[in-house]
Amino acid sequence: MVTDDAREMLAAEAAKCLDCGACTLSCDILPAIDPVHPGSLARQVLSRELGMREEWFIPRCALCRRCETACPAQVRIADMVVAMRALLIAEGKIDAERYRAMWVDCDWNAISLFRDTYGLGVPPERVASSPVAFMPGCSLFNEGHELLPALMRLLDEACGAKVALLPDCCGMPLAEMGLLARYERFADGLWGRIVGAGYDEVMVACPNCLARLKSRGEAEGVRVTSVYERLARAGVKAPAHPNVAISVHDSCPARGTPIGTWVREILSDYDLKEMECCGDESRCCGSGGAVSLFDFAMRDVRAQRRAEEFARTGADWCVCACMSSCSTLDASPARGRVRHVLELVVDQEIDREECRRKIDAMWQGDQGVRNEFRLAHSRPLSEER
Ligand code: SF4
Ligand code: SF4
Repeated sequence: MVTDDAREMLAAEAAKCLDCGACTLSCDILPAIDPVHPGSLARQVLSRELGMREEWFIPRCALCRRCETACPAQVRIADMVVAMRALLIAEGKIDAERYRAMWVDCDWNAISLFRDTYGLGVPPERVASSPVAFMPGCSLFNEGHELLPALMRLLDEACGAKVALLPDCCGMPLAEMGLLARYERFADGLWGRIVGAGYDEVMVACPNCLARLKSRGEAEGVRVTSVYERLARAGVKAPAHPNVAISVHDSCPARGTPIGTWVREILSDYDLKEMECCGDESRCCGSGGAVSLFDFAMRDVRAQRRAEEFARTGADWCVCACMSSCSTLDASPARGRVRHVLELVVDQEIDREECRRKIDAMWQGDQGVRNEFRLAHSRPLSEER
């Protein structure tokens, strides 16, 4: 049972915690529950003795792992928080309904409703069998749909083959919510489709997808690679716009990976002005940890802090490799100055104002009523509609 595994994992990680508090210095919300540290927090969850501050903390952790870079005992703090969420959901202390909009294992959710409302699909020539598939991730497929034709042509060239387009979600939202059994079932279904299609390689754009899929790919005999590695190795460089300086926002799942290096290589024709916290020290943009589904204000505080850090660089554009970061930061004071690295690669801008208008419109009028109804009555994909 998932809850037994979660308890076992929490007990093991809690035993490693030295109670030193080093993680607190790297986090924006651990100080709110200090002197409770991850080890003692886990023991409270296991003994069902949580206080209000601790219950407040668990759904608001960004799962950014910044604390883990400071931890001398290699405690898996973010995985502990996910296990705590799983237990609190099982005990009815967190209402899983609050996450319904991102139940990606159901027929209707924010991703599928957007695609259905605006008729987004995979062009027939990109369904064809191929040794290589490109998986842009939910947000890039939806919000950056207009980039895909140019991007796919570029990937065909870089791979020397017609690349298939995989519109699937990696299942990350379910895992972050703590819906771990559902995540496992979802991942099994996804890998059944990938292996059944016969791909040797799945190239991903989203750093979250890479983190989720890489190790399972090794077990399934499918190489999971980053599109940024492929482009950097092929010598692709984003054409620099004259007199434009950029700053790179490193997203949380890229921590401890070479993604930031590949992205900077692709962007090396630009004048780069780094933020104070970059690379493994980067801070959450606000979109991490499914927090925005629980507490909009917390998301906005984090986005504002990151936007202020970007503003201090004096750069013109804030460039992200994660589409969720782009959308979140573009709703902050950095609005209008955020770009996805692949926009710069294909030299085509996403119309984010139009994208925002579409997201608002899908919840308004008759369309809004229909979509609200479908979301409220969404069913697991395994059930017939
Ligand atoms: S994962 Fe991020 S938000 Fe969560 S405790 Fe660590 S630093 Fe704080
Ligand atoms: S830094 Fe690591 S060992 Fe120290 S309190 Fe935090 S989790 Fe425990």
